[in-house]
Amino acid sequence: MPVTHRVNDEILTDYAAGNLPEAFSLVVAAQASLRPDVRARLRDLDAVGGAVLEGADPAAMSDGALDAVLARIAGDGIAGDGPDPAPAGPPARTARCAVLPAPIRAYVGGGIDAVQWRSIGMGAKQAILKTSGESTARLLYIPAGSQMPDHGHAGLEMTLVLQGAFLDADERFARGDVETVDEDIEHTPVADLGEDCICIAATD
Ligand code: ZN
Repeated sequence: MPVTHRVNDEILTDYAAGNLPEAFSLVVAAQASLRPDVRARLRDLDAVGGAVLEGADPAAMSDGALDAVLARIAGDGIAGDGPDPAPAGPPARTARCAVLPAPIRAYVGGGIDAVQWRSIGMGAKQAILKTSGESTARLLYIPAGSQMPDHGHAGLEMTLVLQGAFLDADERFARGDVETVDEDIEHTPVADLGEDCICIAATD
């Protein structure tokens, strides 16, 4: 199976049905905002879900659920039918004003300069976003070449790269890529040397 670094179908299906905790929904919405392939997959999954549900309890899913989700993603004018300005690869850098996709800007109340960072040591910073429920969404700022802070996983963790890249074992995750790990994984991602890495991570 090719590595797509895309949110998996199970999570996308839960997202489209409105069954994901808010923190994880935010990460999915942000990846969908950055990547046309994620938006296309959401549309495909919604078509499948509609076919399966046909003849089932008509109240099980509202017709407009996915449309509403996609409209929300596209709503603030950055996603539309085109992707955010994303780096085509090195040495392109993310324009400062466009680091945060629209769904995240809505939580921050502005762009990257509006983030209220708190130091977590070794030059790393984080900002916890206000979401409901027990899951947490946080922005992470990791200086180029530095390790992500030590952390365990009490459950699912989904990390979306917004600027720069990080390496985890043999895999590289760049802007628009999501790494999904569960509680069985121990890992120490390291920010790429080229640029400070900014991510959003949702955790249980
Ligand atoms: Zn982790």
